[in-house]
Amino acid sequence: MEKAIIDKLIQATHADIVHTDSDTLHSRRFDRWAINHFKDWKDIPLPAPGCVVCPRNTQDVQDVVRFASEHGIALVPFGLGSGVCGGVVGDPETILLDMGDMNQMLFIDEENMLASFEAGFNGLAAEEAVAEKGLTIGNWPQSIAISSVGGWVSTRASGQFSTAYGNVEDVLYSMDVVLPNGDLVTLGKAPRAAAGPDLRHVIMGAEGTMGIVTSVTFSLRRQPEHRAYTAFYADTMERGFKAQRAIMCADWRPVVMRQYDLPEVQRLFGSYTKDENCLLIMVHEGPKSRVEAELVAVKSIVTEQGLLEADPEASKGWLGHRNTVPDWTDLFKMGLIADTIEISGTWSDIGKIYNDAVAALKSVPGVLNASAHSSHVYRSGINLYFTFAGMIGENEATEEFYFQCWDKVLEATAAAGGGIAHHHGSGRIRKNYLHHDLGENGVALLWSLKSAIDPKDIMNPGNLLPDAE
Ligand SMILES: Cc1cc2nc3c(=O)[nH]c(=O)nc-3n(C[C@H](O)[C@H](O)[C@H](O)COP(=O)(O)OP(=O)(O)OC[C@H]3O[C@@H](n4cnc5c(N)ncnc54)[C@H](O)[C@@H]3O)c2cc1C
Repeated sequence: MEKAIIDKLIQATHADIVHTDSDTLHSRRFDRWAINHFKDWKDIPLPAPGCVVCPRNTQDVQDVVRFASEHGIALVPFGLGSGVCGGVVGDPETILLDMGDMNQMLFIDEENMLASFEAGFNGLAAEEAVAEKGLTIGNWPQSIAISSVGGWVSTRASGQFSTAYGNVEDVLYSMDVVLPNGDLVTLGKAPRAAAGPDLRHVIMGAEGTMGIVTSVTFSLRRQPEHRAYTAFYADTMERGFKAQRAIMCADWRPVVMRQYDLPEVQRLFGSYTKDENCLLIMVHEGPKSRVEAELVAVKSIVTEQGLLEADPEASKGWLGHRNTVPDWTDLFKMGLIADTIEISGTWSDIGKIYNDAVAALKSVPGVLNASAHSSHVYRSGINLYFTFAGMIGENEATEEFYFQCWDKVLEATAAAGGGIAHHHGSGRIRKNYLHHDLGENGVALLWSLKSAIDPKDIMNPGNLLPDAE
């Protein structure tokens, strides 16, 4: 980025929020997308942004956005960089807007069960702040300690307790957004509205392409009074899905229901492996009397479906270690390239999606692991989280392997009727598959929205929306 532009940017904002030193630029070249980490590990040069701006308040955001709009310069919002789909990539002609310094708690309102945070506020710190008052946001992504509340909203994040508490869209009350022309808008005013389309949903999941989220207000719950654990074996994934469906249809809501296929039981639950069985683990929480009733009912339902009781310690152990995952670099050092892909499907499609996608993954030459578990359950269906791994080879071959695995899972999912993205977003890895979910007319509608809101295409261009034909 030309020095003259940076000088003007400093004039339009403040010198101490504009960073051009090489360490800062280098640290903001990409998010946690596996393929960019692989390239970096292999010393393949990856471009850095032209400059990094760290706004301290909404006015700073508005100043930068207005500057970018006036000069036609692209802006890439950055929360805490835990995105895994390539939502953040460096480009020397862009300004990266690092929201990390907008990290103040704005208020906790116990009467109305609301808590508000600036967008860069760390997710775990937010949860801990409300926990001090006996409250919970209830959105627990595995990345809770490394993601921001603004990032959650921008990616339509989903927490591990979503089956009972919902996804981020269910706990979001309102948010403030700076639009690409610099205007500030508050979306969400009352507990529920019929005041036209819900505009929060235009920004939620926009992955930085429609505006900058500057603050987020959540609707809270009380901390649960009681917690209990159960676990069961199912001889096939299909039988386990049927049991989970029966639980949902009977209107019970274990906060966590996760079902692992055999390779994942062996890899993640070692000593709890039993023959060729899949493992269904559950966490139940809420008022004690309801939890106790749920335990009795769930046990009866799954037994009727042919599942066998397993040691509940399997579930308790999962809860204790659930956020411990290896870094990409740990895997690279072992000679492995791997990634996870989350999708969802109805009860009638999910068995076929599982079988077809695993088979499609196994058809990729060099695949060492093709496995899945489910982790978010709905009245009409369930998600699946595939994991693939293979050995690292030559750089080009490794990249080809990586993209082929993604392609196989997404195409098999779409062909079997599933939705191609459950909660990690689109980024750059999924954008050219979005037509499967939206249809060609839906993609055109999304582009129309984008063009209307961001006519100069300054907001995270190249992200989320499919490439133009
Ligand atoms: C180990 C691991 C586990 C994960 N587990 C989960 C999980 O359980 N559930 C889940 O949903 N996700 C999970 N993720 C993915 C990731 O943590 C989420 O997508 C998270 O919401 C991203 O938040 P962030 O603050 O890190 O955003 P970033 O990665 O910084 O940004 C993500 C996208 O949102 C945009 N963006 C960020 N902040 C703003 C803002 N304030 N305004 C406008 N646009 C913005 C960025 O431009 C980018 O496109 C996981 C990731 C990792 C690495």
